[in-house]
Order: sequence, then C-alpha cells, then structure tokens
Amino acid sequence: MKIEKVDIVVVGAPWRELTIIELTTDTGLTGLGEVRMVNKTDTLIAAIEELAARYVIGMDPANLTRLAWQIQVGEYGLPGEVGQSALAAFDMACWDILGKELNVPIWKLLGGKFRDRVPAYANGWYQGDRDPKIIQKLAKGVVEKGYRGLKIDPFGAASAEISRSERKRALTILEAVREAVGPDVQIFLEMHGRFTGAAARAVARDVIDVEPGWLEEPVTPTDITSLRSVRQSTHLPIASGERMHEAHDLRPFIEEGLVDIYQIDLTHAGGITGLQQLVGWTNAYNVLLAPHNVCGPIGTAAALHFSVACPNFMILEHFNDFADPWVFDIVAGAPRIDPADGCFAAPTAAGLGVTLNREECSKHPRTGGRLALFSEGWEKRTNVENYTEGKQS
Ligand SMILES: [Mg+2]
Repeated sequence: MKIEKVDIVVVGAPWRELTIIELTTDTGLTGLGEVRMVNKTDTLIAAIEELAARYVIGMDPANLTRLAWQIQVGEYGLPGEVGQSALAAFDMACWDILGKELNVPIWKLLGGKFRDRVPAYANGWYQGDRDPKIIQKLAKGVVEKGYRGLKIDPFGAASAEISRSERKRALTILEAVREAVGPDVQIFLEMHGRFTGAAARAVARDVIDVEPGWLEEPVTPTDITSLRSVRQSTHLPIASGERMHEAHDLRPFIEEGLVDIYQIDLTHAGGITGLQQLVGWTNAYNVLLAPHNVCGPIGTAAALHFSVACPNFMILEHFNDFADPWVFDIVAGAPRIDPADGCFAAPTAAGLGVTLNREECSKHPRTGGRLALFSEGWEKRTNVENYTEGKQS
C-alpha cells in the first residue's frame, strides 16, 4: 500500500484555523489528520506541501518511525514547532489508514484499552468580561454539561509582571469559579507562560485556598531557573509541555522533576507516534500525561485514541463544546462528552472513527483567526481585530 495523494482543507473560526489533511492510498483508503498551529497556518501548509512531496507521496503508511526520522533527523534542522506539526498531520492520517486497513480503532494498535472512559476538562468556556459574576455563571454552565474539570486563565493581558490589584481581581474570579463548581470539580489554572518567577510565586501563594489542580506554564516554558523557583515555593502541581516538540525538550524537566503533568500536544510533537514514544519514559518517572488539545473533532479523536490506551494519562483538554459549536459538523462521528460523567467513551469505529464532511467545511473558509494572548479581551475568542487594546504588533 502506498500513499498517492495529499489534500489540504483549512476550516476557519474567529480565533483559530484548523488545518486538515486527507491522504489517499493506491488501495482507495483515506486517512485524516488535523493540526491547529498557533497563528501560522500559511507556514504549516507550506511545510506540509514541501514535506509531502519529498517523503509522503509513495510511502507505505505503516513506516511511521522512518518518516519521523526523515523529517526530524534527515532534514538536519532541529525538530521544532513547524516540522513536528507537519509530521503530526501525516502521522495521524497514516494511523487512520492503518486502523481502517486492519478494521480496528487506533487504540487497539497502541497497547489496547487501559480505560473505558476518558475524562476531559473544558476550555474556551470563559468568553466573557473578566467579572467574577459573569465568569461564575459561565462556570456553572460548564458543570451543567457534565464536565468535572475546567481551565481558566484569569490574568487578562498580564505579561511578565502583574499588579497587586490585577492579582486580586484574578483571585476573586477564581474564588467565584470555585463557589460555582463546588469542591470536587477540578479547576486548572492557566498562566500561558506569562510571568517572571517572582510574579508566578506571588500568584501561586494567592491561589492556594482555591486548590487548583495544576499551575500551567507559570513562566516561559524554557526558563528552567524560574520554574525551579516556582517549584520550590509551592506544593501545587506544575503542568507544562504544550510547547515541547520532541523528547529532548522534556529531558531537563523530567530529570530534575520540575513538572508533574506533561501536556504534550500530539499535533505539535510528531503525532500519535511521537506522543506514544513518551509514554514509557514519563511513566518511569511517575509523572502524568494530560494532552493539550485545541483541535476540532479530528485531532480530538486522535488524542482520544491515545488517551484510551495510555496508562499514565490524566485528563484530556476539550474546547469544542464552548467554541465554534458548528465544528462538530465538519465530520461524521465527532467525539462527544457524555453529560452523565464528563467523559468520552472509548471509540469503537475503525481508524480514527471520523469522516470528513467537505460541504460543511466549505461553509467556514479561512478567517486569519489567531490568538493574541497578551492583549485585553483575548478570552472572548473573537477575531483578533476586535480586541480592544494592547494589540500585538
Ligand atoms: Mg496552555
């Protein structure tokens, strides 16, 4: 079996563009891949086109570690965000083809079923003004949909430093969320790598009584010295990894024990194959994987298959119930949260289990949508042109 064709479809939302590829084999099988690379869709498309012509057309879709070597090592340049995202799109689509060929869901090829139910947490739900009452109401809506976990970045446009009054405002928002969701729903605190070590330590102290399930990227994710200082100042778990692209990126953090939960995004880290290769290593260090996932239904399906099979999995991120509700319709078979327990069920269909609906995709052309996380109003996830102030240049 050989890959004969690579198609690219981009679906646009106000704040994100979902790059979808469909591979077709000489036996007539097709496979889907999806990547949302932050703010650089044109770059991703160019990389997919360039690498597809060089390595993917004519390849056997089973030869995934060879494909990874060609893109990560054979290309000589270091594996990073762009190459690892393009590789992820190919890799995901090849796993879809392999599952279809063998007539099994992908998780059966990843070690089999470790769990029947895959817990998820909601993101993208706080699209309102940074007012505790407004956010509290939105948080209640998350729990009403069945979620037992949710994530929030209450820090507005803060960058490096944060004023005392803004820290207080963030804490008031978090306390309102805790009051809304009760003691047993997990609140994950997103910091988007905003802070200096000193600012992050101050925030970590502020939020102790809210008992967040983790502090996510408290400082720039490559700043080991500052992260160490945060680590030493708090008992709260530290999460990081959505901007790590390959095994070497994790190494200093794993070896020093600086991160409790690795949020590796398979769409930024070489696909299912790339993430699967981290399972044994992270497990040996007794740390957890909670995959970052900002994809539509195709990338979510890929993360779901991984999560079913992964022994040291913690929880899966999910945006699609709160951002762009039409996004479920771009495929048949989109994974959905069960409102009874806030979990996904293990998929049963062959491959990824989703089929592209090109007509629905065509209703949502490219928008140029992107995030500007250090501008006021980014939480509303409208088009970046609508942000009120502090536009990034
Ligand atoms: Mg994050």
